[in-house]
Amino acid sequence: MKSARRICVVGSANIDLTFRTPRFPQPGETLTGYSQHQGMGGKGANQAVAAARLGTDVTFIACVGNDAFGKAAIDAYEAEGIQTSVMRRAEDQPTGTAAILVDDHAENCIIVVAGANGRLNAEDVKAASSMIEQSDAVLCQLETPVVAAVEAFRLARTLDVLTVLTPAPAEHVTDQLLALCDVCVPNRLEISTLTGQPVETEADALRAAELLRERGVKRVALTMGGNGVFLLDDSGSAHISAIKVEAVDTTGAGDAFTAALTVSLVDGMTLTESARWASTVAAISVTRIGTQTAFPTLKEVNEWSP
Ligand code: ADP
Repeated sequence: MKSARRICVVGSANIDLTFRTPRFPQPGETLTGYSQHQGMGGKGANQAVAAARLGTDVTFIACVGNDAFGKAAIDAYEAEGIQTSVMRRAEDQPTGTAAILVDDHAENCIIVVAGANGRLNAEDVKAASSMIEQSDAVLCQLETPVVAAVEAFRLARTLDVLTVLTPAPAEHVTDQLLALCDVCVPNRLEISTLTGQPVETEADALRAAELLRERGVKRVALTMGGNGVFLLDDSGSAHISAIKVEAVDTTGAGDAFTAALTVSLVDGMTLTESARWASTVAAISVTRIGTQTAFPTLKEVNEWSP
């Protein structure tokens, strides 16, 4: 029997190393920075944490290295109450790592090494099939190989489990994956890359969402930052305005939104109701610095007023 609400997230887990520096180094130069901070990242991990904070049982299907960062990642996700028993430790690759330099002008330079994320495969997903069977939704993004996402969606379809996709990076999306997708949550850049349709106006948003649906996606929730979200499904289209807040850091807003949308959909809410609630969750996250550190708990969402 299924537990009340369970979501399987299939995707990336990174360690983010953020270095604050007065300016970026020149080739060959060694600079002394102000500070260094180690945080958890990766779109998969972000979505797993965001959903867990909202009171949902989350299983995370991911691959980290057999190194200190991999252990730190697993410990951090266990501390969030996430089921990590199907996270694999790759022997031949380090844990995915992002080196993030932030200068005095708040500009950033980032290098990401996918490492063990690139080792996640269809076998890892098959090994977790009983977890998928017990879930209400499977949530994928594409910072891990598309074969893992396809296998997860294929299994989910046979088990009548909702499939939700963040199509990022959009270049990794395949037609096979879109055909297995119940809910697709692109941002403007991603949907433009996928469909060739730039999105400036609401008419553009409708056209781009229609093009995605022609490829097999059932429901589209196109996020547009401070301009809210555009929805399209069998019942028609809708635009939900973003909640007016003082945004200080929008990193991870899309991940908070997608996780919350999924949580609400498996709770039985409509797409419109779910997008409204997810907009609140994402709005809270943009009022706080950081990515996973900015995601609210269910209690914080319930007590929050703009
Ligand atoms: P991504 O992080 O994937 O680029 P978006 O920037 O489109 O995603 O943001 C996702 C959602 O987060 C938006 O649809 C909106 O609900 C919320 N959001 C993003 N930026 C703001 C903002 N400045 N004010 C309020 N809500 C925001």
